[in-house]
Amino acid sequence: MRKKIKYAERLNTLGELAASMAHEVRNPLTVVKGFLQMAQSGLEGKNRRYMALALAEVDRAERIISDYLNLSKPQIGKTELMDLSGMVQQIVLLLKPMAAKQGVRMQTELRNDIYLHTDRNQLLQALIHITKNAIEAAEDGGKVDIKLAVQEEKACLNIKDTGKGMSPEHLERVGTLFFSTKEVGTGLGTAVSFRMIEAMNGSIRYESEPGAGTEVIILLPLAQQSLLAAEG
Ligand code: ADP
Ligand code: MG
Repeated sequence: MRKKIKYAERLNTLGELAASMAHEVRNPLTVVKGFLQMAQSGLEGKNRRYMALALAEVDRAERIISDYLNLSKPQIGKTELMDLSGMVQQIVLLLKPMAAKQGVRMQTELRNDIYLHTDRNQLLQALIHITKNAIEAAEDGGKVDIKLAVQEEKACLNIKDTGKGMSPEHLERVGTLFFSTKEVGTGLGTAVSFRMIEAMNGSIRYESEPGAGTEVIILLPLAQQSLLAAEG
């Protein structure tokens, strides 16, 4: 038993170390990117292409860091009472430009009576990762539907896309570290999100059909009635 606790503590310290290193590395990277962009405008031909490659790699490093930052601190922090439909609206607002750029429509079917008591930022991160994947999967002219419901006394969030879907083999691997089928993917987004949702005592399930699309079903505990009453 004692051994187990020590191991958990060590993991926690490693996680914290990784998170702070990721933070530290991000700042110089931003500076490097800025100077590379400035230098690029004065270049031509082969050198310009080399610079574009360097910039693309800096972008990749940035993506890995921001996905990894979330992975290294999956414990739930400050919890608060929050309205799930408000969060979905926020996500749509944040991701609409990305969807529009890809020619993907976003639709919601919300209800305003679903309250959770959880870590708002962590949930937002997880849902953004999952919704981004849906937008990335949906082809031009496709759509992403987000629906809220109450099921088995839990909040049920359904994110459905008309994208390319996943094969049974891929379906099995979604949510595992570093699994990605994308050219510029990190394979961290779903791994991070699964861990967060589990830490919230929720569950996440994928249903998918190649060529037809994917549906993600997330169940989360509802806030206790007594908390709602206390808030008025
Ligand atoms: P990344 O997006 O960086 O590839 P993720 O962990 O977010 O990493 O996703 C892992 C993989 O799961 C993706 O590369 C993709 O193959 C698959 N995937 C996730 N969501 C969907 C979806 N909605 N439709 C199709 N494939 C998906
Ligand atoms: Mg992703």
